[in-house]
Amino acid sequence: MKIRFLGGAEVVGKMGMLLQDKEANLLFEYGMTASKPPQYPLAAPPVDMAFLTHSHLDHCGMLPWLCGKYGTEVVSTPISADVVELLVKDSLKIAGLEGYPKPFDEEDIRTMMRKFITMSYGEIIDIGGFEVELHSAGHLPGATMYELRGDQTTVFTGDMHTTNMRLVWGAHPVKCDNLIMEATYAGRNHTERNKTERELVEKVKEVVERGGRAILPCFAVGRTQEVMLILKDLRYNMWVDGMGRSITRYYLDRPEFVRNERALRAAKRKFHEVRTPADRRRARREAQIIVTTGGMLDGGPVLSYIDDVKNDPRSAILLSGFQVEGSNGHLLMNEGIINVQATREELPQPVKIKCEIQKFDLSAHADHNGLLEFVEACDPDTVVLMHSDDRTPLAEDIEAGGRRVILPESDEEFEL
Ligand SMILES: [Zn+2]
Ligand SMILES: [Zn+2]
Repeated sequence: MKIRFLGGAEVVGKMGMLLQDKEANLLFEYGMTASKPPQYPLAAPPVDMAFLTHSHLDHCGMLPWLCGKYGTEVVSTPISADVVELLVKDSLKIAGLEGYPKPFDEEDIRTMMRKFITMSYGEIIDIGGFEVELHSAGHLPGATMYELRGDQTTVFTGDMHTTNMRLVWGAHPVKCDNLIMEATYAGRNHTERNKTERELVEKVKEVVERGGRAILPCFAVGRTQEVMLILKDLRYNMWVDGMGRSITRYYLDRPEFVRNERALRAAKRKFHEVRTPADRRRARREAQIIVTTGGMLDGGPVLSYIDDVKNDPRSAILLSGFQVEGSNGHLLMNEGIINVQATREELPQPVKIKCEIQKFDLSAHADHNGLLEFVEACDPDTVVLMHSDDRTPLAEDIEAGGRRVILPESDEEFEL
């Protein structure tokens, strides 16, 4: 079996992995990095079938290109397919606004939607001498690990989390010979989840009780819903804005992929939704808590909410997601400023933020120890690490357990 990454092995972003065997030519993920300018994996050749693990742009963002060019069929869970459609349409819109070349068009998106083969956990598809079974990967509703059974058994994890979150159950190990696993948190461990959740709730209470407003910028897919679930029992004036609102609705339409449908429905009811400009004006006047899309503060409704509180030391911006270098979120954490563009013609100007700023680790990825335990339980001979800026610390710990570890670079072919 020959493997070659088209991207996303040695970085977090723009994933794509080719797997070639006697009869099978398969592609796992085809994504993009939503940076400025956007980054793409190497061009994929035609394949027999593609497999998508979940609906984050770094895994799915270039599927319209693939399906538009070759008519490739894509295996995924139905909820991932729903969310992918929304995300790639949005990324096309953003490329237009920012003036970058568009790698695909609306027609390609329609083609992609016709090419999805939707399946659920526990189901099996035959392709090129493999039986491929879907397993839950934790991480997000619908996130999937693929187990390929042939002469040997190979598992491709995509992004994964092994402990239970509010929104989804954790992933369970799958016995295999080869484990191709994400390693985002290699070398780092999370603080205990319950403790972080309690601290977040306490901080939000403190901010509201001193007369301030808590702004929680969140990624639309997964994090918005997780934060709403954590805050749902508070009796404050709470609002949700941005694309995360639509994603919540999508999840409730497919409750079989959600850990606790009733809790998510209750959370949705507790938050007022910003649907119109009038709603947003009302939220800006009266909200005590705002959960809003624009997780890295680079655009979206979050900027108007920040503008309202930037000089108010009673208020707080509470971040919970990964802040990529060069993003406003990263700038805020490190220098206490964000860059704001007043109009499209003007250059961005730095704005000093004087309200409280704090970050909470609500990651949806397994940490170093979680990954190591997962490897032990899957008990493979060979582990391939991907989706990480620094795989070495984890590779060392896995090798110490007597297993072979491969750290591929993009465009480098290797055998399993
Ligand atoms: Zn992900
Ligand atoms: Zn990812």
